[in-house]
This record gives sequence, structure tokens and C-alpha cells, in this order.
Amino acid sequence: MTPSHVLIAGAGPVGLVSALNLAKAGISVTVFERHIAPQEDLRASTFHPPTLDLLARFGLTEELVSQGLVARYTQQRDRKEGLIAEFDMALLKGETQHPFRLQCEQWKLNTLLLDRLALLPHVTILMGAELQSVDQDVDSVTAKVKIDGKIENFTGNYLIGADGASSMVRQSLGIEFEGFTYPERFLSVSTDFEYADHLPKLSYVNYVSDPNEWCVLLKVPTLWRVLFPTRLEETDEEVMTDESIEARMQNLLPKDTPYNTVHRTLYKVHQRVAKEFRRGRVALAGDAAHINNPIGGMGMNGGVQDAFNLSDKLIEILTSGASPDLLDRYERQRRAVAIEYINANTARNKKNIEERDPQARQKTQSELRAIAASPSAAKDYLRKTSMIDALERAESIA
Ligand SMILES: Cc1cc2nc3c(=O)[nH]c(=O)nc-3n(C[C@H](O)[C@H](O)[C@H](O)COP(=O)(O)OP(=O)(O)OC[C@H]3O[C@@H](n4cnc5c(N)ncnc54)[C@H](O)[C@@H]3O)c2cc1C
Repeated sequence: MTPSHVLIAGAGPVGLVSALNLAKAGISVTVFERHIAPQEDLRASTFHPPTLDLLARFGLTEELVSQGLVARYTQQRDRKEGLIAEFDMALLKGETQHPFRLQCEQWKLNTLLLDRLALLPHVTILMGAELQSVDQDVDSVTAKVKIDGKIENFTGNYLIGADGASSMVRQSLGIEFEGFTYPERFLSVSTDFEYADHLPKLSYVNYVSDPNEWCVLLKVPTLWRVLFPTRLEETDEEVMTDESIEARMQNLLPKDTPYNTVHRTLYKVHQRVAKEFRRGRVALAGDAAHINNPIGGMGMNGGVQDAFNLSDKLIEILTSGASPDLLDRYERQRRAVAIEYINANTARNKKNIEERDPQARQKTQSELRAIAASPSAAKDYLRKTSMIDALERAESIA
């Protein structure tokens, strides 16, 4: 073990951001990734302004922006009534260096991070390396990792569990993942059909409420992605048939020819937060620590914000002799944000978008119209929805 060596489980955005931040500070890192090659992950597509501000520390935000779409506006719509409220992210000028949402696939961030990590000599990325369990004592932490069918032990000063929703690190430590799983699943369908030619004034980010079948319409550079809830009585197989996908797409916007769908994926959706974010020399970050429904685009963003917070603290501990108790502050800060902001806002977003009670729907829509009509209320709303408030809340926790 070198004097400062951090083990990281998972080469998703959270593991790789942590790795690059630590490596740039001169700390040696080993990342274990169970897949044998980087995945073109179709999950996250929205980067919020404070996440872009943080990534600018690596000098990669401009490159990421050049590979995505700058979304100045976001919209709240209703499937029958059309546009309810439009929010102009330019109101956030002065609050962030990036007053827009970036619509860009999350794997593009992973690729940029891997490219930069490849330039650093004290970084080891082990692909096809599946973490099996974690053990620790007062001086070190050891990961048992399966590589080519054999178990190998790796020892470091600290270990970051960034191994996603089913985190083996979390399970190995027996940390409870408190919360619930929604009964329905979410279906994500990508198409090359150009919705903007058919739905007037559509923005790149559109939350479309409906009491029967809400949807989210998101543009990434070459495709539109549509997110639908499934019905409880549908089996996974039924949801994924060509006929069923085509029926959903035609029901949203009827057209004479069939939709060309490029990807289709079905997700289980949870609202869960780990009971502990830190146990001794091991800390959880990203989906390993908290998962939520994707309405509002907060999972990866929150995870990247965890990664900076945690790795900054590890740098202080390993290079400046700060007390390891600093990791308790990581837990206090980021667990509070996961519960109060990420979980609470995404759960509320889902409740509002699917609301069945006509009066409650009308009330939410009137509130949204009033907020959009007032620049100061709209700015407050955007600070909340783009996670600026969440980041400030974390900083305020001692
Ligand atoms: C449909 C959908 C849309 C979404 N849209 C957005 C959005 O717009 N904005 C947003 O912020 N979030 C969004 N999210 C959430 C976002 O995708 C996740 O929050 C994000 O991927 C979490 O990153 P992570 O690095 O923590 O985990 P992951 O991306 O899951 O990465 C974990 C990595 O660990 C690896 N791994 C797992 N187990 C092991 C093991 N035992 N050993 C070694 N490696 C292991 C995995 O292979 C994986 O590469 C969306 C999610 C869904 C489902």
C-alpha cells in the first residue's frame, strides 16, 4: 500500500469524478469496474448548472457542453392543455457560471473522465473487476475483487462505494437502504422523430403532466427520449412489445407512419437513502448512497456533488493531516441533501406530474403559471430545481 491510496468501486460518473479529483491531488487510486468495457449508459441526460460549475474544476465542462445541447428553457406542460409554464434558466446568471441545463448523455462524461484519468500515472482502472466484499481495521481497508474468475485482495487507506443502486459495498457493510420501490416501472424510449416540428414551442426539457399517462420529453443531440410510467397490470414483456411501445408513442402524438425507436429500456424506480454514508474507512456516494425517481434529473447530479464533497475531504485527510472525522461531516452534509432535496423534490415532482385529482392539478398548474410570471419567484424556483439551493444547504452544515 502506498502512503495514500484510495480504492473505488464502480466506474460510473460518481466513481470516476472521485478518482480524477483524488488523482489530481497526487493520491493514487484504483478503480474496480465489473463491466469489461465502458458502457454507453442511456440513463442521465440532464446536467444541472452547479454540476457543470464543479466539473469546470477539471477543465472539461466546455468539452462536455460541445457534445450536448444547451437548454436555456424548461417547460411544464399538460398533455391536453399544452404549455403551462416556461422557465428561463438565464435568470440564474450571477448564481452560476452555467445558467442553463446541459442535455448530454451521461456516458459522454464517463468517456471524458476516463480519457483524463488515462494520462495520470498513479491511476489504475481495472475493468472486468467485480468487488465481492469489504473488510477494514483501524489502519486500512481491503477489498476482495473477482478478476478473471479469481479473487484478489486490494488494500488502501480508504474505499469509496460508488457501485450503484445494488452496491455490494453497502451490502457488505450491512447498511440499510431505507425507503421504498414504486409499484410501476418507468419506460424510456428514444426516437429520431423530431417532436419540435409538431409540438409548437417545445423546449429541450419538458415535463408533461397527465392523470392517465404523464411523460417526460427530453432532447439529446441526436434523439428525443420519452419517459412513460407503466400500468400496474402490465407485465414487463407486455410493455416491451413493438405493438405496446408503438401504441404509447401514437397515443402521445398520433401520426400516419410508425415511430422509429432507437432504444427502449424499462427501469424499476425507488426512493431510498442509505442509513449511513460512512462507516470507518468506507464511504458511499451516488446511487450506492441514495436513489430516486428520475423526474427532475437529480440522481447523477447529486451523485457527482457527493463525489466532489467526499473526495475533497479525503484529500484534506490524506494530504493535509485533517482528522478522519471530516468524513462524518460528509455524511451529515450529503445525507441531509439526499433526504431534504433530492428525495423530497423528485417524489413531489412525481406526485404533481401524475396527480389525478382535478382540483389539485389545477392548483399546481396555477402556482406554476404564477411562479413563471414573476422573475424573482421563477429565480427561486430555478435555484431549487437546478440544485443550487441543495449545494448551498450542504455547505451550511457543520
Ligand atoms: C431513465 C433514467 C433517467 C435518468 N436521468 C437522469 C438525469 O437526467 N439526471 C440525473 O442527474 N440523473 C438521472 N438518472 C440517474 C442516474 O443515471 C444515476 O443517478 C447515476 O448513473 C448514478 O451514478 P453512479 O456512478 O452512482 O452509479 P452508476 O452509474 O450506476 O455506476 C455504478 C458503476 O458501478 C459498477 N458496479 C456495480 N457493482 C459493482 C461491483 N460489485 N464491482 C465493481 N463495479 C460495480 C457498475 O457496473 C457501474 O459502472 C436517471 C436514471 C434513469 C433510470
